[in-house]
Amino acid sequence: MTNITIIGSGFAALTAARALRKRKVDATITMISPRRELHFLPSTIWIPAGIRSGARLKVQLAHFFAKHRIDFVEASVTGLKHGGRVVETDHGDVSNDHLIIACGARFIRKLPGIEHALIPCEGIAVGEEIGRRLDAMKGGTIAVGFSTNPEEPGAMRGGPMFEFLFIIDTLLRQRGKRPGFQIVFFSPSPRPGARLGQRAVDGLLQEMKDRGIVTQLGRKILRIEERKVVLEGGEIDADLILFMPGLTGPAWLANTELPLSPGGMIKADECCRVEGLPNVWVAGDAGSFPGPDWMPKQAHQADLQALAVAANIAAVETGAEPSTRFKPELVCIVDTLDSGMLVFRNEKFNFVGPKMKLFHWLKRLFERHYLTTFR
Ligand SMILES: Cc1cc2nc3c(=O)[nH]c(=O)nc-3n(C[C@H](O)[C@H](O)[C@H](O)COP(=O)(O)OP(=O)(O)OC[C@H]3O[C@@H](n4cnc5c(N)ncnc54)[C@H](O)[C@@H]3O)c2cc1C
Repeated sequence: MTNITIIGSGFAALTAARALRKRKVDATITMISPRRELHFLPSTIWIPAGIRSGARLKVQLAHFFAKHRIDFVEASVTGLKHGGRVVETDHGDVSNDHLIIACGARFIRKLPGIEHALIPCEGIAVGEEIGRRLDAMKGGTIAVGFSTNPEEPGAMRGGPMFEFLFIIDTLLRQRGKRPGFQIVFFSPSPRPGARLGQRAVDGLLQEMKDRGIVTQLGRKILRIEERKVVLEGGEIDADLILFMPGLTGPAWLANTELPLSPGGMIKADECCRVEGLPNVWVAGDAGSFPGPDWMPKQAHQADLQALAVAANIAAVETGAEPSTRFKPELVCIVDTLDSGMLVFRNEKFNFVGPKMKLFHWLKRLFERHYLTTFR
């Protein structure tokens, strides 16, 4: 029987497995990942406010694996051989007929002094640490910023940093502590969040102004010190620094013949095929795909790519040419705890909704949908 091996157990991996079963592809599915859990990172923004706990965001996948007949291998991938037909792991080799790489991306930790910043997207534990630090602070300066991968400007994650920024402001207000704090937002881009569209950037900058958040924009970030962000031509003294660096591909890609983009991601075409390697596919943050410059590194986009991969593998298995292209689409709710701003973008529309409490609840509904699906 055909074996389809999937690397990762995140959004792209789980969606690909589910879609393959839905299409009734007659194959064994092997999933390789270091953990049998999905960590639902989009909701880590709510941990500091106490409306989500770390434990609740760790989804045990045993039921999902049983339901979709997935053979799970608890291991970390370390390399590939034979054009991708064999996956090397720290627990031995796994061979396949199709390989789906859905192992996500890695943060670039090159900025000097980056260890002095909390990197919120590194996981649930960091969300918890932000909560503890905020609880302990009586006043001071909080600096929040992000940057990108200079070799691949699309390899970044800005949305959650806007959310942490606004949520911290809301939380301090709710606790009556805001007057004792200064909040500073920094980014090397003069117009951060450009992928959301120009109207959205205007809205975000206006929101910062309305909340009394100071901005340091358009200055290169030189280094981070224990209590300082050093920018070209300026510095921010800060008691708490939250920083999101740009993204690159996982380190193990260096042990493979996979074609890489300038930013270190796996190069793929619009059907999610890895260039030059038959039956090797990529979905989600690990890939570098052709498409509009606003194409996001998002769970929703990862899902759309995973659906295209499943459709294309199903085609190959019936002897047809793979021809399903993934849909580039951005759906983002920038949550502020007390409200939210919806942004939708595809090749035809760029919708920016007004700030509404309804969107905060809509984001909670999305969370429920995902958690129910994967539980
Ligand atoms: C704080 C935060 C908020 C976010 N908010 C949103 C949001 O509101 N909406 C949205 O759409 N997106 C959001 N995102 C982005 C979204 O989480 C990512 O884009 C998405 O997780 C990418 O999915 P993926 O499957 O490509 O990778 P991941 O979800 O990162 O999954 C990668 C998988 O590969 C596994 N893996 C890693 N290395 C190896 C290895 N060597 N061997 C085997 N397995 C490996 C990992 O354990 C994991 O299971 C947010 C992200 C963060 C951090």
